[in-house]
Amino acid sequence: ETALDDRTFTKHESEVRSYCRGWPAIFDTAQGSWITDVDGKRYLDFFAGAGALNYGHNNPELKSALLDYISRDGITHGLDMSTVAKGEFLETFASKILEPRGLDYKVQFPGPTGTNAVEAALKLARKVTGREAIINFTNAFHGMTLGSLAVTGNSMKRAGAGIPLVHATPMPFDNYFDGVVEDFNWFERVLDDSGSGFNRPAAVIVETVQGEGGVNVARAEWLRGLADLCKRRDILLIVDDVQMGCGRTGDFFSFEEAGIVPDIVTLSKSIGGYGMPLALTLIRPELDVWEPGEHNGTFRGNNPAFVTATAAINEYWSDDQLSVQVKAKGIEIAQAFDEICARHEGLSHRGRGMVQGLVFEQAELADRTCEIAFGKGLLAETSGPNSEVVKLLPPLTMTSEELAQGLAILSESVDEAIK
Ligand code: PMP
Repeated sequence: ETALDDRTFTKHESEVRSYCRGWPAIFDTAQGSWITDVDGKRYLDFFAGAGALNYGHNNPELKSALLDYISRDGITHGLDMSTVAKGEFLETFASKILEPRGLDYKVQFPGPTGTNAVEAALKLARKVTGREAIINFTNAFHGMTLGSLAVTGNSMKRAGAGIPLVHATPMPFDNYFDGVVEDFNWFERVLDDSGSGFNRPAAVIVETVQGEGGVNVARAEWLRGLADLCKRRDILLIVDDVQMGCGRTGDFFSFEEAGIVPDIVTLSKSIGGYGMPLALTLIRPELDVWEPGEHNGTFRGNNPAFVTATAAINEYWSDDQLSVQVKAKGIEIAQAFDEICARHEGLSHRGRGMVQGLVFEQAELADRTCEIAFGKGLLAETSGPNSEVVKLLPPLTMTSEELAQGLAILSESVDEAIK
C-alpha cells in the first residue's frame, strides 16, 4: 500500500479507505497518455483508469463531440426517455460493431458501471433458465455488489460481505493445472452424478483474460471447449468483457479470436470512450425475457457518455487500424518484457494485445517496482491474488515512442527494485 500524505487524505480522496490503491500526488489535468499533478510533474499513464481510458485522456475527437453536444444544450440526464444521443449510439453500435462481426445481440443499459452489467447478466441467466447456480473461475473478478462479488474468485475481497446471495461454484481457470488443457469431461461426469451434489448451473461467467486476477490468459482452445460444454448442456455462457473489451486484446470483443459467440456479454469501462460511466449487457435476442421494471436504475444510460461512445466507435472502429496497432504494440511490450526477464531470475510475463503482465515471484518486488516507477513519472498498477503482477494497461492510442519511453522507465525500475 502506497502511503498517502495528509493533504491527500484530508481533502483530495475519501477517508473511507475501501478502495484499492492511492498514489502520493494530487492530479489535476490529463491529455492523451499523460497526467499532470498540481506540482506540474507529468506521469505517463500505464494504468488508464484500469481500462476505462482506451482512447486516452481528453481525446480530441471525443472532446469536441462532447463540447458540441453540451453547447447545443443536448439533454444530459433523461431517465426513461428516447433521446437522439441514445438512438445514434444504438445505431452506430449495431452497424459498426455488431453487424460486421455477424453478431446479433439486444443491448440493455443495466446501470452506470461494470458491476451493474454483470448483475443484470446473472439475474437474466437465472430468470431464463429457472436455475440458480452460477459457475465462476478461480481468480475471477466481476465486481463488488453482492451478486457480482459472489462470482468473484477472491476470498479477501469477499471476506467482509458475509454469505453471498448467489450460489457460485468456482472452477479452475485455464492453466490452473500448468499448461494442461482440460477436456471438461470431469465436469459432465459430476453433472450427471446425482450423488455429487453438484447443481446444474444457470450460467458460466468468464473473462477471456483475467485482468484483476493477474493477467491470466485463457487459450482459445480452452474457451472453445468451455463454449461447447455450455452449448451441449444448455448452460448460458456469459463473457465479462468489462476490462478486456473495446479493443484491449486487439479485437473489439476479446472473444473474437476464439471464434465463440457468448449468450450474454458485459461491457463497460472504455465503452463510454471518455472515461464516463456507461455499461451494456448484450443479450442474444431469444433470451430477452425481461419484463418492464425488472431491472432499472436512475443512471441507466448517460447521454453525454452515449455521445462520446458514438464518437469513439466512429473514430476508431470504422476500420481495423486500431486492432492492427494494438497487436503490434502488444508485441513491443512482450519484447521489452523478454529483455527484463532475461536479466532477472524468477520473472516471467504473459498477456494479449495491450494487456501485459510482468510476474514476480515476490510480490514486494512488484510493489516496489511500481513505487520506483511512480517516482520516475510512470503510473502502473499491480494485480493478481497477491499483487505479484505488474499489469500494463496503457491507452490503446499511446504512441510507440511513449510506449518505448514508459517501458524504459519500467525496465530501470525493475533493476533498481531487485538490486
Ligand atoms: N468485470 C471485470 C472483468 C472488471 O475488470 C471490473 C472492474 N475492474 C468489473 C467487472 C466491475 O466494473 P466496475 O468497477 O465498473 O463496477
